[in-house]
Amino acid sequence: MSEKKCVLVSGGAGYIGSHVTVELLSAGYEVVVADNFSNCDRTNYEGVCAITGQRPPLEEIDCCDAKAVEGLFSRHKIDAAIHFAAFKAVGESVEEPLLYYRNNLTSFINILQAFANRGGGNVLFSSSATVYGEPDETPVTEQSPRKPATSPYGNTKQICEDILRDTVSACAGLRGIALRYFNPIGAHPSALIGELPRGIPNNLVPFITQTAAGVREVLSIFGNDYPTPDGTCLRDYIDVVDLARAHTCAVTRMFEGRMREDYEIFNVGTGRPLSVLELVRAFEKVNGLKLNYRFAPRRAGDVTAVWADPSLANRELGWKATRSVEETLSSAWAWEKHIRGI
Ligand code: UDP
Repeated sequence: MSEKKCVLVSGGAGYIGSHVTVELLSAGYEVVVADNFSNCDRTNYEGVCAITGQRPPLEEIDCCDAKAVEGLFSRHKIDAAIHFAAFKAVGESVEEPLLYYRNNLTSFINILQAFANRGGGNVLFSSSATVYGEPDETPVTEQSPRKPATSPYGNTKQICEDILRDTVSACAGLRGIALRYFNPIGAHPSALIGELPRGIPNNLVPFITQTAAGVREVLSIFGNDYPTPDGTCLRDYIDVVDLARAHTCAVTRMFEGRMREDYEIFNVGTGRPLSVLELVRAFEKVNGLKLNYRFAPRRAGDVTAVWADPSLANRELGWKATRSVEETLSSAWAWEKHIRGI
């Protein structure tokens, strides 16, 4: 029997990283989790262990520390890395650009360097639909133009995509895939792992669930005068478990030598646009709740509408989003109740 492939998940104790770790372990891969717990606690790591019945090695390192990353690569035979270890608060990135550029670029460079030192490897980068900015046409395909980033956070996504492309082209044994996520929401059906925002949530669904739990008094819907059917913004909300499965498919594609190019990009979305108001109503309906919300002014930097054309990922990765928005919003509420002890 061939040896199990080993995947490094940097930021593996975070929201998406923990769901990806579960899917990789379930698919039979070995996983090494690296996390410095700068933006999460151990809840999700313990949740991963409870769900899978396995305790993947946990490396408590800061991926900005090149020596520490090199040490990790010398302790484990890493066949692929999925890189989540990055800051993600758009507003904070505007206040602290150097923090974002230093953290998000350095950690990624260190991981690429460790592979380059070994003559290659497989790298999956967590990119974002933010690279499309306000698109001229929707849905967006991978060929849709990238727009100038409106925040340092968004810029780090574009720069890291370019770093990956350039490094892959310079290093013969290196392959890279950038997955452009749309709006990941929800939690694992077990309610043992999920999103744990620190402080006031920036994202819509954690704000909704915290409002439903009574932690926040009222949800502000930012803008109801957009040129959309109900005046609120349109997004492509993708279940985090569906999103996680896309990573397993992408890693397997790399391992099986099925890539068409050494650097590939895939949209990871449902292809289904939903407005903020539709999402709020769906949450109320599936969970039998009334949400306290009000309309508020537009939030600076928000785009009107963006959703994916996921057909490339559907075809090439053999992956498709399968969970309904109802299932996803009920999992988000189950997770909020779990962590609040409701
Ligand atoms: N949004 C909102 N109230 C909130 C948070 C978000 O109305 O408290 C809206 C936001 O304006 C956007 C959508 O929800 O139209 C998704 O925002 P989120 O921050 O979750 O993701 P983004 O698409 O900005 O990355």
